Amino acid sequence: MCKSIRDVLIAVVLGAGVLAAWPAQAADIENALKQAESVRTRDPQAFANALDGLDRFEPEATPKQKLQIRFLKTYQKVLTGDYRTAITDAIDIHKRTDDPTLKFRAALLAANTAAITREFSLGLRYLEAALAMQDQVPEADERHLGSLVAAVLYTEYGQHSLTLHHAKHLLAIQTTPRTRCVAREKKIEAEWKLGSGANSEQDINFAISDCVAQKEPIATGLLRGYLARLWAAEGKNNEAIGLLEAHLSEVEATGFPRLIGEIHSLLAEYRQATGDLAGAELDARTVLELGERDAFSQPLVTAYKVLFETALKRGDLRVALREYRNYAEADKARLDEIKAREFAFQLSRHELQQKNQAIELLQKQNEVLTLQQEVSEAATRNNQLLLVLLAMVMAAIAYWAYKVKRVQVKFRRQAQVDGLTGISNRRHFRQTGEALLQRCASAGRDASMVLLDLDHFKRINDSHGHAVGDWVLQQVAVALQAACREGDICARLGGEEFALLSCGSDVDAARRIAQRCREHLAAIDTSVIGQPVTASFGCTTSGRSGYAFEAMFAHADVAMYQAKASGRDRVRAYGEDGVGPATVLELVRG
Ligand code: GH3
Ligand code: MG
Ligand code: MG
Repeated sequence: MCKSIRDVLIAVVLGAGVLAAWPAQAADIENALKQAESVRTRDPQAFANALDGLDRFEPEATPKQKLQIRFLKTYQKVLTGDYRTAITDAIDIHKRTDDPTLKFRAALLAANTAAITREFSLGLRYLEAALAMQDQVPEADERHLGSLVAAVLYTEYGQHSLTLHHAKHLLAIQTTPRTRCVAREKKIEAEWKLGSGANSEQDINFAISDCVAQKEPIATGLLRGYLARLWAAEGKNNEAIGLLEAHLSEVEATGFPRLIGEIHSLLAEYRQATGDLAGAELDARTVLELGERDAFSQPLVTAYKVLFETALKRGDLRVALREYRNYAEADKARLDEIKAREFAFQLSRHELQQKNQAIELLQKQNEVLTLQQEVSEAATRNNQLLLVLLAMVMAAIAYWAYKVKRVQVKFRRQAQVDGLTGISNRRHFRQTGEALLQRCASAGRDASMVLLDLDHFKRINDSHGHAVGDWVLQQVAVALQAACREGDICARLGGEEFALLSCGSDVDAARRIAQRCREHLAAIDTSVIGQPVTASFGCTTSGRSGYAFEAMFAHADVAMYQAKASGRDRVRAYGEDGVGPATVLELVRG
């Protein structure tokens, strides 16, 4: 077992403290936990008692409290030397808990304990796990403890630059006086081991007085060791011996083997340099007694070296050879140890790097996925916009087509109807008339056409004005429409001439239609003009004129002129009473 590492870790974590009284009964489980915590680093015995007290509460504890109790018990296992179980438990707690503080503390405990058992890779893995989550820990004291443990552990792993980094960090922030003292000691030790030459006598003395004020004999003793090394390096061996001797009893009172061994190994070295061979040998033997199980510590190597060189100077070659073999073995063991720690450190760095690369890769993949999602969302949005645009274009086209259609219908209607009366014009009468006659012919039904011309219409215009004449024409159109049956076509042919085409009517029916028209004209309220509106009617049928539109029209016209000629306001049918082609000739000549 690496006794020196274990001792330094326990010394840092526990510190020197006063005994705290454990109350016979804690009010509740939270209080009991707090009490146990408060004595944890101060007094091992009180802590053991506090854990016994917590056992009573365990059955009612919440899962979080149970993990806290388990953590304290794991801590106790470290104190009692049950390192293997402690490591397993600490790792398990670290994995199980969601509480950042407990997770952090469990990782640090695993790291500390693994350093004691020399499971360097494991120790570094949990130290780095703890440092990675240090910022999530709300309690400042806990965070500082993390940096302090890092400073101590990195020294053990020979990573003095990292120790320096954490020590400087602690000195740059507000911490407890005790943490500050230990941080100063770690800084000076790291700078010495890095050979940076940054240590000045003034700095070391300043650190010593700070640690003396904090009643930290271990850190003070270690710092005095560095002051002695500085003096010895300047050739002031006697001053160095004087300093170490003056505080030897203080060092031995700490009971901390590593410090005691270190100071005695320095004394042995400096005494030998001053020629005090007996004194040097005595100090070297003290180191061997203290560190007999630490086969790889620097003080042990120095002690064997001093013994070998002392024997050599005395000319005792047999002892010199034996001590030289011991020295070579201890030095090899120390070098192996250094190599093992360096290897563990490099391995852990490599693992960390791999983990970071994996995290980076995942982040990149995540970014790619996010971008892909954004792209697909944008594509969906674009598609939606496109659809909306398409719908709008379609609506615009539909609206435009509707408008065009309406305009077309309006124009067509305008082209078909008479502007004054609103009934069909001559052209439309011809088109629809021809179609109606064809249908009648196909159906084998009679068809009749009636033409009418208002009598003396010019006089109305002349007497009452053109506007009244227009009004009369409109009234005539209304009267004709009223006289029409369904399916009949009526139209204004122009001027004061109108026409009517009907399917399914023989000559009598045609006469009746014309007669009905006469009656409707007579019914017009003509009080404005003071005389009735009359017209001369000419009619023909398909039976007499055939189904050809032009022929019917011409024959009805002949009949209409005949009605005019025979006195107006009457109906004449083509093919009767001398109304026929001859009459046409007469009329033309006449
Ligand atoms: P007759 O009995 O022989 O048919 O005599 P008439 O006066 O009706 O016939 P004539 O052909 O001499 O006169 C037709 C008149 O109709 C002439 C013209 O001024 C008038 N007229 C033609 N178109 C319109 C119109 O749109 N509005 C008005 N107010 N008068 C019109
Ligand atoms: Mg006329
Ligand atoms: Mg007329």
